[in-house]
Amino acid sequence: MEDSFLNLVAKDVLGRLTGRLKNCVVIFPNKRPIAYFLDALVQYGVPAEEVPTFYSIEDFINELATTKQVENIDLLFILYKLYLKHYPESDFDEFFGWGNLMLSDFDDIDRYLVDADKLLKNVSAVKDLEKNFMADVFMPEEFLMPLNPDDEHYLENRFRETWQIYAKTYHDLKAELKKQNLAYAGMNYREVAEKLASGAIKPGADTYIFIGFNALSKAEETIIQTLINQNKALIYWDADRYYIDNEREDSGHFIRKHASQLSGYNPQLFTDQLAKARKNIEIIGVPLHVGQAKALGIELKKHLNQANYGSTAIVLADENLLVPVLYALPEETGMLNITSGYPLQMSSLYGIFQACIHLQDNYQPGHHSFYHKDVLAILSHPIVRQTNDNGAKLLTEAIQLNQLIYISETFINGFDSALLNLFFKEISSTAQIDRWFREILAEMANQVTDLESMENKAFKNFDGIINQLAALSKSQDFELSKKTYLRLFKEKVYLSKIPLSEDHPDGIQLMGMLETRCIDFDTVFILSVNEGILPAGNKHHSYIPFDLRKSFGLPTFDEQDNLYAYYFYRLLQRSSQINLIYNSETGSGGEEKSRYIRQIEYFLPKANPNVMITHRFYSLPLKTQTAGKIIIKKEEAYFNALKAKNKTGISPSFISAYYICPLQFLFNKVMNLPEKEEVVEDLEARHFGLLFHALMERSYEGLKGEMLTKEIIEQRKARLVLDMDWVLDKIHKTQKENILQKNSLLVETVKVLAEKTLEADILHAPFKLIDMEVRADYRMPFHLPGFEQIYLKGIIDRIDEKDGITRIVDYKTGAVKSRDFNFRLPETELMKDNKEAFQTIFYGYLYHHANPGVKLQAAIMPLKEVVKGYIKINENDRPFGSNDFMVFEDKLKSILLTILAPEKPVIQAEDQNICAYCSYNNICMR
Ligand code: SF4
Repeated sequence: MEDSFLNLVAKDVLGRLTGRLKNCVVIFPNKRPIAYFLDALVQYGVPAEEVPTFYSIEDFINELATTKQVENIDLLFILYKLYLKHYPESDFDEFFGWGNLMLSDFDDIDRYLVDADKLLKNVSAVKDLEKNFMADVFMPEEFLMPLNPDDEHYLENRFRETWQIYAKTYHDLKAELKKQNLAYAGMNYREVAEKLASGAIKPGADTYIFIGFNALSKAEETIIQTLINQNKALIYWDADRYYIDNEREDSGHFIRKHASQLSGYNPQLFTDQLAKARKNIEIIGVPLHVGQAKALGIELKKHLNQANYGSTAIVLADENLLVPVLYALPEETGMLNITSGYPLQMSSLYGIFQACIHLQDNYQPGHHSFYHKDVLAILSHPIVRQTNDNGAKLLTEAIQLNQLIYISETFINGFDSALLNLFFKEISSTAQIDRWFREILAEMANQVTDLESMENKAFKNFDGIINQLAALSKSQDFELSKKTYLRLFKEKVYLSKIPLSEDHPDGIQLMGMLETRCIDFDTVFILSVNEGILPAGNKHHSYIPFDLRKSFGLPTFDEQDNLYAYYFYRLLQRSSQINLIYNSETGSGGEEKSRYIRQIEYFLPKANPNVMITHRFYSLPLKTQTAGKIIIKKEEAYFNALKAKNKTGISPSFISAYYICPLQFLFNKVMNLPEKEEVVEDLEARHFGLLFHALMERSYEGLKGEMLTKEIIEQRKARLVLDMDWVLDKIHKTQKENILQKNSLLVETVKVLAEKTLEADILHAPFKLIDMEVRADYRMPFHLPGFEQIYLKGIIDRIDEKDGITRIVDYKTGAVKSRDFNFRLPETELMKDNKEAFQTIFYGYLYHHANPGVKLQAAIMPLKEVVKGYIKINENDRPFGSNDFMVFEDKLKSILLTILAPEKPVIQAEDQNICAYCSYNNICMR
C-alpha cells in the first residue's frame, strides 16, 4: 500500500536522515512491523549497508539494562522464598495466584516510575482516603480464608499487615534479583529510564526513531523525552484526525496526551482518511462464537482475488478462534502468514496429557480406582488408538459391556498390556509425574511418523516443558507438590505456541489485534467484535486499590478501554474494505456486539459521506460444506475385521446393524469407533434394559428346570423390591445411592415392567422354566458357500416349555414393529420391518440346531407395550418345524452374503430419521 503509515515514515525519515541512517536505531512497540519497515526502506533505495538497527521496545530496554530479564515462573519461586520469611506456614499452591498478582503490581510500580515507598508505606492512611476502598480491591480467595467471624476487624487488620509485608517484599525482591544479576521487565524499564535521565547511560546512536507508539508508560515517556532533549529522537505517531481532533473519541486519548507532553522534535504524520476516504464497511452478525469462523470462510471467498492477498488481514480479537478459522478457510486462500503460532494447548497431544491429569485428579486412593470417563478419554484418543493395543480394546469393551463407573487397578492389570500399565497407575510425587510424562511422550512419539506434522512439533514443545520443570524442581530447596507441578505444567502449555510457518509476505495475514500495530491493509476482517473482547472490559486485577492506582498514575481498566479503541480505529483508518464479524448470540456465554460497531454506525456516516455501512446477519445452521454422500468400498481391512469378529461368533444384532445403516455398522462394528457415550451413570431410558434383564433373572433365580405355578410366581413378584435392591448392588455397586437419588423414577419403572411381565407369566402358568440368559452356548457353525466357516451366536433371554412346546422368549426394550415372522418377505424388508422377529427366530434357529425335533414357538415381551403381554411370532400360532428353519437358513445365507459382498459398497442409511440419534452424525453431517 503506497500511502501506508510505514511507507510515509520511511519517506520522511529518508528526507531527514539520508546518509546517516546507519547510525540510527529504530524502535517499534513490537517486532512485527520491522520486516515491513525494512521493505519500505529497501523500496526507497536504502542499500543494505545503510540499514539502521531495529528493536522492539522490550528488546531495546533489555539491551541497555545491566540485568537479565527472568521468566515469570522463576520469579515466582524467588518471590515465594522471600515471602516465606513473613509467612513461614504458607505453601506454594496457596501463594501461586496472588504471588502472580504481586509481581504484576511490582512491574507496574517500576514501569510507571512510582515512588514505591510513598505508595506502599502509609497504607493505614488509605482507608481514610477512600472509605470503601476494600470493595475495590481484587483479593484472592485463598488470602481471605479463613475469615475469623468473631473479629469484625480481621479483614482490615490482615489487609494492613499484608500491605506492610508487601512493601518489604518489594524491596527484598529487588535486592535479591540484583544480587543474582536478574530483573523483571519493569525493573529494567526503571533502570534504563533513570540512568538515561541522569546521564549514567550515554546513548550511542545518532538518532533514535520511535514509530507507532500509543500508550507510553512513565519509563518510556522519560526515555523518549530524555532523547528528544538531547536532539537524538524522533517519534512518529500513527493516528487519524477523526479521533485525534475530537476529545470525545477515546481512541485518541493517549496520542493527544503524549503528543502534547513530549516537547521537541516530533513530526506529525496524521491521516484524515476516516472522515474523507471511500470505505465499505460490512457488519456481520453470526450466531455463536465458532459460527464466526464459518462466516469468515464464506466472506473471504467473496472478497478475495489474487491481487489483494498481501494487503488482506484476518484479525482475531479473540485468538481462541485460531483453530476454527484455520479449518474454515476456503481452499483458494493459499499461503497464509500466521504470526500468532498454534497454541500448544490445542494440540491433539495435549488432549492426552489433559486426560492423564484428570485421571489423577479423579483417582480414588481408597479403592485404587480410576473414573471411567478419564480411562475412556485416554483409550479413545486418536494417537492412543493408533497403537492398536489389544488390551486397550478389550478394556474399552469391558467397561462398556459391564457399565463400569470406577475401574480398579487390579481389574486393569488383568489385561496384560504394557500400554495400560503405562497409563493407569497412581502417581503421587513430582518425580513420578516427571517420569510418567516422559514415558508417555516417548511411547506416543512412536505413533507420529510425519516429521513435518504439527503433532511432531508439539512433541518437541512438550519435551522442552518437561525438561524446564525438571530443572526448576531441582533448583528448589523444597519439594514441588504434585498439584504445583501440574499447575506449572498447564501454565507453561497455555503460554506455548508452535511456530506455524515461515514468512509468506504475499499471503493473507492472520494475526492477533496487538500485531496489527503500525501495519496497514486494504481489506480487513476483524472477528469477535463483541463487548468483553473489544474492549476487554473491567478485568484489571490488582492488589493496589483503584483510587491509589489513579492517584499514582498507574494504569487502570479505563486506560485499557482507550487502548482497545485505538487498536480498533487505527485498523480502520487506511482500509477501504472493512468486515466486522461479531457473535450475535448473546446470553450463550457471548457478550453483545461491541460499542465500536454502534459508534461507527452512528457517528462515522455523519463525518464521512463516502462511508457505506451495511449490517447483515447469518442464521443457523451455517455449514461450510454441504454433506456429500459417503460411499466406501469394502476392502481387505473390512473383511479381516469381520473374520476377527467371526471367531467369537456373529450375533443377530450384529447382522441387523448392517441393515439399519451399513455405514454405522462399519464405524461401530467393524472399526470399533467409540460411540458418543459409552457408560451412563444415570439410568437413561435406553439403558434400563440391562437392569430389567438382571431383575428378571434374579426373580426366577433357583427355579431352572422347575414347573412355575401361579403361586410361585406370585411369591417372586412379592419380593421384587428386595430383588431390585440386590440387582442395583450388583450392577452399580459404587453408584447405587447416586442412581437411587437421581433416577428413582426409572428404577421404579423397571420394577413395574418386571411386575407386569410376572403377571403375564401368571396368566401363562403353569409352565416349566428351562433356562435364562443363555449365553454363547449356541455358538453354531454355519456354512456359507465360498467362505470360511461362520459361527453364529446369541443370548437367549429365556426358554420355557408348556404343553410340549418349547418357547424362546425375547425381552425387547424398543418399539416392536411387526409381529408374525414372515419368511416370504425379501431380505431388506425382512430386516427393516421384521427386525425384532428376525432376531427372536434367529435364537430359535440356534436352539433348534442344538435340539433338533423340538417344537418351537417364539415370543417377544415388548416392554413398551407390556400390558399386552407376550406376542407370539409364529404365523397362526403354528410351532416352527424343520422346514421353517430350512427357509430361514436360506434367508440368513442371502443376508450374510449381502454383508460380505465385495461389490456392494458400504453406504449411508436412506432413512435420515435414524441419523439424529447416531453417534457418528457429525461425520455424515446429518
Ligand atoms: S449418521 Fe446416519 S448415515 Fe451416518 S452413520 Fe449414522 S445412521 Fe448412518
